[in-house]
Amino acid sequence: MNVLVINCGSSSLKFQLIDSDSENVIAKGLCERIGIEGSRLVYTPVARGGEKVTLEEAMPDHTKAVQMVLDALTDAEHGVVKSLSEIEAVGHRIVHGGEKFASSTLLTEEVIAGIKECSDLAPLHNPANLIGIEACQKLMPGVPMVGVFDTAFHQTMPEKAYLYGIPYSYYREHKIRRYGFHGTSHKYVSQKAAELLGRPFEECKIVVCHLGNGASVSAVREGKCVDTSMGLTPLEGLIMGTRSGDMDPAIIEFIANKEGKSLEDIMKILNKESGVLGLSDGLSSDFRDLEDAYAKEGDEVGKRTLEAFCYRVAKYIGSYAVAMNGIDAICFTAGVGENSPLVRNLICENYLQFMGVELDQELNGKRGQDLVISKNEKGPKVLVIPTDEELMIARDTTALVK
Ligand code: AMP
Repeated sequence: MNVLVINCGSSSLKFQLIDSDSENVIAKGLCERIGIEGSRLVYTPVARGGEKVTLEEAMPDHTKAVQMVLDALTDAEHGVVKSLSEIEAVGHRIVHGGEKFASSTLLTEEVIAGIKECSDLAPLHNPANLIGIEACQKLMPGVPMVGVFDTAFHQTMPEKAYLYGIPYSYYREHKIRRYGFHGTSHKYVSQKAAELLGRPFEECKIVVCHLGNGASVSAVREGKCVDTSMGLTPLEGLIMGTRSGDMDPAIIEFIANKEGKSLEDIMKILNKESGVLGLSDGLSSDFRDLEDAYAKEGDEVGKRTLEAFCYRVAKYIGSYAVAMNGIDAICFTAGVGENSPLVRNLICENYLQFMGVELDQELNGKRGQDLVISKNEKGPKVLVIPTDEELMIARDTTALVK
């Protein structure tokens, strides 16, 4: 079955057309600057040799963006399908499902209303996701559509893991609790890890470190998420590209008083100007730049930034060893987790040796494939697993539509 996977942001739209039987990507691409001057579609018809095509055309709204995607997919020269009837289902990535959605769901009027209700939990993301759904429904009437939620996999967390130590009435009345994000990636990687370990998913204790520009760690016990580092919003947890992660909430009032900033200013700083970008004094949010700095003689900036980042990841792994009473596998995924032997080394060699973890440095230097990179017989295995959220969305969509 050909499934169109859509990941819609406020001014962008990423897509993949996946044959869910062979699990091959047929075409993929990105619409950028929707509603802004200079919009364009970058499209790769993978099944036709994969040469990139860039189409520059005004995209005043998401409907126009989806129209351009459908035109490209059916184009005589660059297309990969003869007509739209060959696209049998659409899977939409939805950021926040609140407590309403613990699994992927067929999009009905009622479900769409439920996603709207979750919008105040993700005011930047859910409305954009809904716009993408609406645009697809308009242009592909009658094609079944499925919502796949970033929060869903974490809905199995027990109360003790998702409650904050604040008045319970905030949970009761406003649903303020930890939700977690990157759930589709955590699910894909933990399932794959069990496969690589050659053991049933339902018997494994797995920690997944999704280290990208956004970063989170999760504890997956017996096939279910039991804890994760992101919270009500993606701001909690690890030090990220530009997000602060965990900090003393009193810092907000302190900065407001010292610098005369508003709440809105400070939230922007914590989301966009903090993390490794802030820690490196504005050097970069990109780990490649930080690694270059780290490698220079006498460098302090790269060193303090990467060490603080890795220390936080290691502390989460340690706490999840306690949460699960042991760990069988520690997995690294996403941009940094998949591509940075240095980060994996700083985490594993500096902090995890007490668990028995020992990396095989030759294997740690490889990239682009599923790999076990540890050489210890006892203690947790360390794995690198390239994540594939789109494939996961295509799988869930197919299962619900068939
Ligand atoms: P993601 O959010 O998963 O797309 O990850 C993006 C981040 O991965 C970038 O901001 C980089 O910091 C990081 N990254 C990508 N390639 C490399 C690499 N070869 N070495 C280190 N970090 C990388």
